[in-house]
Amino acid sequence: MDILKIEHLSKVYGQGNTAIKALDDVSFSVKKGEFIAIIGPSGSGKSTLLHLLGGVDKPTSGKVFINDTNIYLLNETQLAIFRRRQIGLIYQFFNLIPVLTVKENITLPLLLDNQKVNPNHFQEIVEKLGIENRLNHLPNQLSGGQQQRVSIGRAMMNHPAIMLADEPTGNLDSKNSQEIIQLLKMFNNIYKQTLIVITHDERIALQADRIITIKDGKIASDEVIRP
Ligand code: ADP
Ligand code: MG
Repeated sequence: MDILKIEHLSKVYGQGNTAIKALDDVSFSVKKGEFIAIIGPSGSGKSTLLHLLGGVDKPTSGKVFINDTNIYLLNETQLAIFRRRQIGLIYQFFNLIPVLTVKENITLPLLLDNQKVNPNHFQEIVEKLGIENRLNHLPNQLSGGQQQRVSIGRAMMNHPAIMLADEPTGNLDSKNSQEIIQLLKMFNNIYKQTLIVITHDERIALQADRIITIKDGKIASDEVIRP
């Protein structure tokens, strides 16, 4: 089953002679549970693509279907709700809120969505991430690897169908990088969560089921390495 279908996606930033075509007619499909690595030179359009897949930004043209919903036909409110419930996002610099504790950071998206925190699910996720004894700490009291675990916990709270990670290990040493990828792969396995990771790290890319290379806003190659 295709969980994600991208059709002729293009994104132009700016107008006139300063316009930049960041994404140029990109099409591909993603199966439920697939783990895809996106690689390519800096400035090639990887982050732009990820943001469009997650409904964070709007394309100039083209369509994105998530579970058969044409997401850019939704209005702003519908899209925000859809995004909160279907998409988990992880960034290089964690994007945690500095004045909130670990527990508050993790549960914030649910509270913003007027949902109750399921204590069993919360406990299961923080234990799997190994941060159960850091719940009352503030982000700046944690190492980079721990902060990234918290941001994964936050992304996991609403059982997203798709996890999107933009260079999640770009700010971590190699031991923590490997651990973070192992955690993302574990959730990909246990919950059949579709996982799309932008990375510069070849060792990480080679753990994926499929590697898509982006160059100049286009797909330069799309290789399945684990069918
Ligand atoms: P990557 O993630 O592969 O490094 P990006 O998707 O961030 O590439 O950027 C692709 C191109 O689009 C680059 O030329 C970048 O400068 C440009 N770009 C990205 N975001 C914006 C923006 N908000 N406004 C203008 N140009 C942008
Ligand atoms: Mg980028």
